[in-house]
Amino acid sequence: MGRCLRLNHWFLRSLLTIAGISLAIALSIAPARSNLAPLQPHPLPPTLEKWQDGQKAGDYFDQIKPVDIGYLIWSKFPVTVFIEPLTLEESKYPFTTQRAKTWIKAVSQAVQEWNPYLPLEITQQAEKADITVLRSPPPLQFSLPETSPSSSQRDRPRLAIGRARSAETRFEIYTKISSSQEPPVLAHRFTIRLRPDQAPSYLLAAARHELGHALGIWGHSPLQTDALYFSQVRNSPPISKRDINTLKRIYEQPTRLGWPQPNSPKSLQHLTYHMPRLPLGRTVIQFVRAIASCSSVSLAPVRLAPHRFAPRRLAFSR
Ligand SMILES: [Zn+2]
Repeated sequence: MGRCLRLNHWFLRSLLTIAGISLAIALSIAPARSNLAPLQPHPLPPTLEKWQDGQKAGDYFDQIKPVDIGYLIWSKFPVTVFIEPLTLEESKYPFTTQRAKTWIKAVSQAVQEWNPYLPLEITQQAEKADITVLRSPPPLQFSLPETSPSSSQRDRPRLAIGRARSAETRFEIYTKISSSQEPPVLAHRFTIRLRPDQAPSYLLAAARHELGHALGIWGHSPLQTDALYFSQVRNSPPISKRDINTLKRIYEQPTRLGWPQPNSPKSLQHLTYHMPRLPLGRTVIQFVRAIASCSSVSLAPVRLAPHRFAPRRLAFSR
């Protein structure tokens, strides 16, 4: 009986501790969110407003998951894209020169393909870019093996290094001041990492797919005929009517991005992830906590979209 009471006591104390920690976390997050701009839609960009799909091809909007700050919508156009130029190191050898040029051509073409739907502009200034495309492999992710372990391994969970992925898209949220006359707004910017060591047709398909994420399609299509299909296919489709129908519906949704912050930037400090020191063409005050990728974590524990090129074994992919 005494042991039972002690156990109950211990159980209650643990429960109270967990409840206390949860409450503290909730309290620390709640005021932070209330300091963010309220969710509201932007006017539809003219390019999407005039888009009409006479064939009623449908969309996959139900696969798009908003994050804490709402849908990932651009409201200032053109959206600027920085494409990593040929490096000095690459220019030393014909093979790496050619490979870089092929990569640059594929990424540039993908930018041109999206341009009729949302105005994009290639910029040479990396620090000012809304979207940065780098010629590098995504960082390796660690994962737990999915296969059932043998009896000798059962009690010994181990981390495995995930297979290298071909591409990855991440975004960061920050508060931006454009001028002293204008209030700070919540802003976002994307980084795409795309491996150069792929066939040109795959490069173009991957660039098209990742740019679709960066333009706001934060999810995947279940159909192979869409550019945002979740897996790599042999004959990659061009941007489909369903891709644009989905994009248009996304841009009709509310977001906190691009709207003035109701309070001074200081009120966001408890959400600060880190304070970047950028060569400034724009003023970055501070990051709200940060990185998300289509195969990785986001601001909130939202359901994570599988990444097109991510092996399913990877942590955080579904
Ligand atoms: Zn993807």
